[in-house]
Amino acid sequence: MITKKISIALLLSATFTGSLLPPAITAQSKATSPVAPRREQVEAVVKEAYEKFKGDTSGKNADYIPYLAQVDSKMFGIAIVTTDNQVLTMGDVDYSFSIQSISKVFTLALAMDELGADAVFKKIGSEPTGRAFNSPIAVVDMPSHTGNAFVNAGAIATTSLISGANEDEKWNKILEFYGKAAGDKLKLIDEVYKSEAATNTGNKALSYLLAKYDRIYADPFESVDVYTKQCSVGVNAVQLARMGATLANNGINPATGEQVIKPENIPHILSAMAMAGLYDGSGGWAWKVGLPAKSGVGGGIVAIAPGKGAIAVFAPPLDEAGNSVKAQEVIDYVSEKLNYNLFSPSSVSLK
Ligand code: GLU
Repeated sequence: MITKKISIALLLSATFTGSLLPPAITAQSKATSPVAPRREQVEAVVKEAYEKFKGDTSGKNADYIPYLAQVDSKMFGIAIVTTDNQVLTMGDVDYSFSIQSISKVFTLALAMDELGADAVFKKIGSEPTGRAFNSPIAVVDMPSHTGNAFVNAGAIATTSLISGANEDEKWNKILEFYGKAAGDKLKLIDEVYKSEAATNTGNKALSYLLAKYDRIYADPFESVDVYTKQCSVGVNAVQLARMGATLANNGINPATGEQVIKPENIPHILSAMAMAGLYDGSGGWAWKVGLPAKSGVGGGIVAIAPGKGAIAVFAPPLDEAGNSVKAQEVIDYVSEKLNYNLFSPSSVSLK
C-alpha cells in the first residue's frame, strides 16, 4: 500500500514539471497535487469530450434577459485549472460571457468571510426549495423564506449582507473579490447589466417580499441593483475555471498563491453547490456526476473536484431547468473518465 502511494507520488512529480506554469507562480502553488491525473490523460479526455458534444444543437439560449438571446449559441469552450495551476483549454475560451448565477457562489464566500459561516447560515439557510430559481412562492412557503444562497431570493439576501458605506463600495468590494478568485481583473459587461436592469421586476418583487419577513439585510432595491451588477460580470472559461480551482484548492488561488476564501468556509460552500447549484437539476446532477457545481443562465457551468481542480464549460444553449446542455455533457463525460465523482470511494486516486 505504502509502495503504491509512493510510486503514484513519483509518477505525479515526474509528469507535473510545470511547463505551463506562469512566471509569477508562488512556492505554494508549485506543490504537486497528490491526486491529479496525468496531464496527457486529461488532455485526451477533454479533446474527446469537445469532439463528441460540439455538434449537439439541443437547448436554447436564455431569452428573459434580452442580451443573452443574442449571444452566438455555437460558442463552446472548455477550461480546466488544477490545484497545481496546470491550465488546459479547448475551443472558445477567450470570450467573456456573463457569469450570472455562478456569481452567487463567490458572494456567499465573501459574506461568510465577513460574518462567519454560522451567521450566514442563520440569515440565509441552505435548503433546496424544490421550486424554480426565481420563485416567489418559495419565498412565501419556505420556513427560512430565503431558502439558500443560490436561488434568486436567497442570493439577493446574501448580497445584502455585504458591508459597505454605500452601494458603490459594496459593489466594488464584490468585484474585487471575484477578481482575486479569478486571478485577473474582472469587469462589468455594461450591456448585460443594462439589459437585465431594465427587465428585473421579478427580482425586485422577490427582494421586497423578503423585506416583509425581515430577510433582506440592506435596502431591498439597492441590493437587487448590486446583485444585478454581480450577475453581469464578464468571465472567460479560464477565469471561471480558476475561480473554481480556488475553491478546490482550499481557498488559495493556485495562480497567485493568495488565500482568497477562508479555508473553513470551503466545505460549506461546496455543500451548498452540491445541494442547489444546478437549479431543479441539482438532484439529477448529484446522482449522475457527483460534483459540486454551479451554473448560470449565461451558459457557463463550473464544477469542482475538491483537492484536484475545476472544470468550466461555456456553451449558451440551456435545458428546461436553465443549465447549459453541452456544459453538463462535457463535465459528466470528463468527470466519469477521470473518476472525479465525489461520492465514489475510488475518486481520490488515479484510475
Ligand atoms: N441574473 C439572473 C437572474 O437574476 C441570474 C439567473 C441565473 O443565472 O440563474 O435571473
